[in-house]
Amino acid sequence: MDAAEAPGGRVRTDAHEGFLLDRGFQVLLTAYPEAQRVLDYQQLHLQRFFSGAFVQRQGQRHLLADPWRHPLAASTTLLSPLSTWGDRLRIGRLRAQAAASAQPPADRPVEDISTADFLRHYGFSQSFQQAFLHPFFRGIFLEPHLHTSARMFHFVFGMMARGETSLPLSGMQAIPRQLANRLPSASLRMNTRCVQWTSGAATLTDGGDIAANRTATGTEVRFRHGILATDAATTAHLLGLPAPPTPRATTCLYFAAQRSPLDRPAICLNGDGRGIVNHVAVPSDISPRYAPPGAALVSVTLIGSPAIEPSTLVDAVRRELAGWFGDGVRAWSHLRTDHIPFAQPNQDAGCFQAARLPRHADGTWLCGDHLTDASIDGALRSGRFTAEAILDA
Ligand SMILES: Cc1cc2nc3c(=O)[nH]c(=O)nc-3n(C[C@H](O)[C@H](O)[C@H](O)COP(=O)(O)OP(=O)(O)OC[C@H]3O[C@@H](n4cnc5c(N)ncnc54)[C@H](O)[C@@H]3O)c2cc1C
Repeated sequence: MDAAEAPGGRVRTDAHEGFLLDRGFQVLLTAYPEAQRVLDYQQLHLQRFFSGAFVQRQGQRHLLADPWRHPLAASTTLLSPLSTWGDRLRIGRLRAQAAASAQPPADRPVEDISTADFLRHYGFSQSFQQAFLHPFFRGIFLEPHLHTSARMFHFVFGMMARGETSLPLSGMQAIPRQLANRLPSASLRMNTRCVQWTSGAATLTDGGDIAANRTATGTEVRFRHGILATDAATTAHLLGLPAPPTPRATTCLYFAAQRSPLDRPAICLNGDGRGIVNHVAVPSDISPRYAPPGAALVSVTLIGSPAIEPSTLVDAVRRELAGWFGDGVRAWSHLRTDHIPFAQPNQDAGCFQAARLPRHADGTWLCGDHLTDASIDGALRSGRFTAEAILDA
């Protein structure tokens, strides 16, 4: 049962005026071990990003290429004014350490301190942290201060080093669609919200016939083993537990442009640390299906939910990006703004100290990224852990 009208949860894609708009900019890291185990990558027709990023800093755009993947572009990185030789050596060392295993975040051999502290203690220069490491990982953790556990950082960094960053040809929702298509027909019931949960019974706003009894509030479904696979806040609410720490929010604006403002399929980071835009991506540079012929789709990610009027926000973003890409930005047409108040659960330093077990009480099992880590891989892994725990019960 799922409250939404289509499967996917936080991984959804909408067709809009010939464009494909993912609900917030997201990517699949091909090295995710659980995703490799479960997904058919070939059928997803994964389209790869350039390994590296542009950094917009002090009016100039710099390309930082991953020298292991793009040796021909390595000189841009090795000669870049954004990093020191010490930074380059440290990145090499960290890359080797993080890529050495495919362990999930909770098992990573680093202290559960904040990512910001980890990067500082590792010895990266102030300017490299500010220009590249901070905006890059702000865009992944969707929080401004990198309070997220260094174990999560180590996992993501390792996954990027072991594999590639990709988008399915026809949008991120192709991932849950592939999983849903494998299920027996009629086993998914959409538009069905759980409004009450007790051990052994759930009340749904729309239900059906499996051992169901109508009540004043909805349909009661009884079960021996029930899995509550909702997000952290809904799970806490339904179980009468204290609300979880403030989740990570993001805002994503989509624009149609005549052509891509970037000359490689890489993201472009705000390396100045000023303004409201964290990064810009052009999904149609990665997969042509994201935009109709003759157009480019530009996605702009902000961290959190800026308290600005919607129309003012679009103008503010256009003005800021005109400083990056020139006056052509003023001709971009705004397609949509997605405010996503719950994008990821809070994963601050220390979050991996306590084991979060799938069994909550007799007959009640939990599942979701809040039990593992906020990623597609974490959500898939949690699903397997819960299924295995029930089979062992
Ligand atoms: C903007 C954004 C960017 C992200 N970027 C990345 C990325 O680049 N790479 C990556 O790996 N991960 C990324 N993530 C994280 C990743 O998408 C999530 O960790 C993962 O999708 C969580 O899956 P889940 O099944 O745990 O939860 P969800 O996807 O939230 O699924 C919960 C389900 O419960 C349903 N539900 C909720 N309440 C009820 C109710 N009362 N009754 C019935 N059903 C209910 C919902 O409809 C939903 O289908 C991103 C997430 C967002 C939002």
